[in-house]
Amino acid sequence: MFIKQLPPHLINQIAAGEVVERPASAIKELLENSLDAGATQIDIDIEQGGVKRIRVRDNGRGINKEELSLALSRHATSKIASLDDLESVLSFGFRGEALPSIASISRLAVSSKSQDEDQAWQLQGNGQEEFDEPTPCSHATGTTIDVRDLFFNVPARRKFLKTEKTEFRHLEDVVKKVALSRFETGFTLRHNQKTVLNLRPATTLKMAERRVAEICGPAFTEQSIRVEHEGAELTLTGWIGLPTFSRSQADLQYFYVNHRIVRDRVVTHAVRQAYQDVLYHGRHPAYVLFLEIDPTKVDVNAHPTKHEVRFRESSLVHGFLYRSLHRTLAELRPQDQLPDQV
Ligand code: ADP
Ligand code: MG
Repeated sequence: MFIKQLPPHLINQIAAGEVVERPASAIKELLENSLDAGATQIDIDIEQGGVKRIRVRDNGRGINKEELSLALSRHATSKIASLDDLESVLSFGFRGEALPSIASISRLAVSSKSQDEDQAWQLQGNGQEEFDEPTPCSHATGTTIDVRDLFFNVPARRKFLKTEKTEFRHLEDVVKKVALSRFETGFTLRHNQKTVLNLRPATTLKMAERRVAEICGPAFTEQSIRVEHEGAELTLTGWIGLPTFSRSQADLQYFYVNHRIVRDRVVTHAVRQAYQDVLYHGRHPAYVLFLEIDPTKVDVNAHPTKHEVRFRESSLVHGFLYRSLHRTLAELRPQDQLPDQV
């Protein structure tokens, strides 16, 4: 056996296996980058379920010409510089893996104009870690990432892709989840030239409710109540479905920790317990909830896809969630409660 150092291109492809499972996972990374760049408008163009093309255009702060190649290099990030920064990170990204991973398994081009420069520049990813010089292009301040032919060089991955329709459904789900995390940012989504979503920036509670209705359906907004609880260390806001709006599946449950969507057992358990007395057995509550917590009290680096977090004081979080929701549900008018409680 010979021990060999893997070439960077291959390392990126291996990392891509963790981060990019399907078009939906690529779009998640791109949208999070746009939000991290402070974008207030994000326009998404998809072709053939995202396999042919994913293009995300934002009006964020852009990338300098000198840094374009760094953006496509592994472990290069503008978001943290030390372990201390990681402890209190509030940005979505910090691993510096997404762009190089996606670039290694697709034909990728970045076009960007930095807010500090007058000229926009474009760089083509070529899967290697050496890049040609950026070429001038036309772009307003912000960034467009154009990803074509995802997995063109990873036949094993391509084989596992489902139909165009299914891949697009996953992708649309991700866009909706991200759109719920930043009401102030506008989003458009087009699939094969057809507009699927057009969400205007929502700056008031009423506009936010309209966005929730567009994403979760009007029935949810009509049959949900507003939650606003501020504790000493934690804040919980959002909407929870009335007991009469329970679901047969746990399919309308959105929970965000500092704007990051997460699946977490502590959370699920606390919510279930709060609903325990007002839901029939086997029914699931519907909710869109936002928890704000001191970032040093939560570890977001628990998994490469960052779907999971770890609360440092999980019983504190559990107690706060349970009490907040239990109190909201206990204040319901009798007609919003179930007739025969079991
Ligand atoms: P991470 O988000 O973990 O830092 P990425 O590989 O996703 O790593 O992105 C690498 C870097 O490229 C980011 O740190 C950021 O500086 C820059 N970047 C990526 N996308 C954008 C964007 N849409 N706007 C501005 N900068 C971006
Ligand atoms: Mg990122």
